[in-house]
Amino acid sequence: MKITTIGIWGGYPNKNEATSSFLLEHEGFRCLVDCGSGVLAAVQNYTELRDLDAAVISHYHPDHIADIGVLQHAAMVGMQLKEWKKPFPIYGHDRDSEMFQSLSYKGVTEGQVIDVSQKVQIGPWEVSFCETIHPVYCLALKFSAEGKSVVFTADTEWKDELVAFSKDADLLVSEANLYEKYVGIIKGHMSGSQAGQLAEQAGVKELWLTHLPQYGDIREILEAAQTSYTGKVQFAKIGYSSEI
Ligand SMILES: [Zn+2]
Repeated sequence: MKITTIGIWGGYPNKNEATSSFLLEHEGFRCLVDCGSGVLAAVQNYTELRDLDAAVISHYHPDHIADIGVLQHAAMVGMQLKEWKKPFPIYGHDRDSEMFQSLSYKGVTEGQVIDVSQKVQIGPWEVSFCETIHPVYCLALKFSAEGKSVVFTADTEWKDELVAFSKDADLLVSEANLYEKYVGIIKGHMSGSQAGQLAEQAGVKELWLTHLPQYGDIREILEAAQTSYTGKVQFAKIGYSSEI
């Protein structure tokens, strides 16, 4: 499968960029993972919108859903032009029923429930979930196909269960929103060393860091991850694709 980085920022996008989001492709199927601010513009660098097949949302914070509304407008225009053939599926949990219902719009997009206890088939991937520790209910996501897997932590504090969930993944895309000095002070996120620790304990083959802060020197976050993970680690790089 192929993964492309659309955006890397937590909270809000940097100038002309997008919040943390990724495009997964396999066997001609294209799935957008999270759809926050700036994502709809940025993803068009890599695909026509009409060639997207699904979107999966980890949780209902603006930096993960802000562009759902404009995605729905794109689907509506696409349907009017008959370029989009059928309602576009947007997968999200329904613990917040109002937000889940907002994924469905005028018959052009359709909310599809994901549940932590159930694997779901999305195109060529079997997708499974792990509840994270975050101010709102949030799911880490694991996409598996043909013996390969990519895990997205989504937004979370350190949680032991994420080690088993990420076990032996070919790629771990971990949030690393915190500088080390904020661990235990700012809740709901991990630091670089914690992302590295997760990658190390899970024995993943490669680690990408995302959901980065706009302040400070983010190289410190990468260096912190390198202190706890002995494998290959880098920032998720906007526009960079990797075959897994
Ligand atoms: Zn969040």
